[in-house]
Amino acid sequence: MLEMKNISKIYQTRMIETHALREVNLKINSGEFVSVTGPSGSGKTTFLNLAGLLENLSKGEYFLDGINVSSLTDNQLSEIRNEKIGFIFQSFNLIPELPVYDNVDVPLRYRGFNRKERKEKIDHALETVGLLSRSEHLPAQLSGGQQQRVAIARAIAGEPKIILADEPTGNLDSLMARQVMELLEQINNQGTTIVMVTHDPVLAKRADREIQIFDGQVNSIIATDSEFPHTEENPKSDIISAV
Ligand code: ADP
Ligand code: MG
Repeated sequence: MLEMKNISKIYQTRMIETHALREVNLKINSGEFVSVTGPSGSGKTTFLNLAGLLENLSKGEYFLDGINVSSLTDNQLSEIRNEKIGFIFQSFNLIPELPVYDNVDVPLRYRGFNRKERKEKIDHALETVGLLSRSEHLPAQLSGGQQQRVAIARAIAGEPKIILADEPTGNLDSLMARQVMELLEQINNQGTTIVMVTHDPVLAKRADREIQIFDGQVNSIIATDSEFPHTEENPKSDIISAV
């Protein structure tokens, strides 16, 4: 699903160069649920932003769903991003002026679906997250957990192959965090690959695999206890090649 070969990301500011990622080699298989952990500033968000085509690599090669994205134009990148990737953020990133329904519609509007197709997708996504009855609510009229579920509906409405989540439970209390985690697990069980940055060691261990990032390097990959029922390929066999 996703393969990085010798990826580096260097942020250049006037005075200093920051090596946010250093020669990362990593493979994530279709259907995997991977957690990403590491101290603050270690490069987790940078990793997700590169994986999600939100930023350009400084060095290396990146294959997403078999496509070498290293050499594509910005327009091609946006198209692939919109079609294949769903994003979930710690702070939900909903548009406050728009009702729930229109928030979920935002990424679909770029995809050339007609109004009826979009309505089907939006209703289906809102039903999946249990918020169909809140379609006309504004984000501020919902709890934090509900807002994050709207953000999840927005991420899944276009049926992406991969969901990238940056601390999706970071702003939630433990009950809501668990509900969001269960929802992500349910989406993963239906075949969507999930990469989730988290500070919560319990949630990290619930993934099929935990990738630890330390000072820009993927320094260990831990196989968790959970079985891996989602694909015929066994991701655990990549552990050695990925380290
Ligand atoms: P994490 O998500 O693990 O907390 P980040 O990926 O956000 O870490 O950051 C990794 C490193 O890259 C940090 O040292 C951070 O200061 C630096 N960094 C991140 N984004 C930028 C940027 N846009 N410009 C310069 N430095 C950045
Ligand atoms: Mg971060």
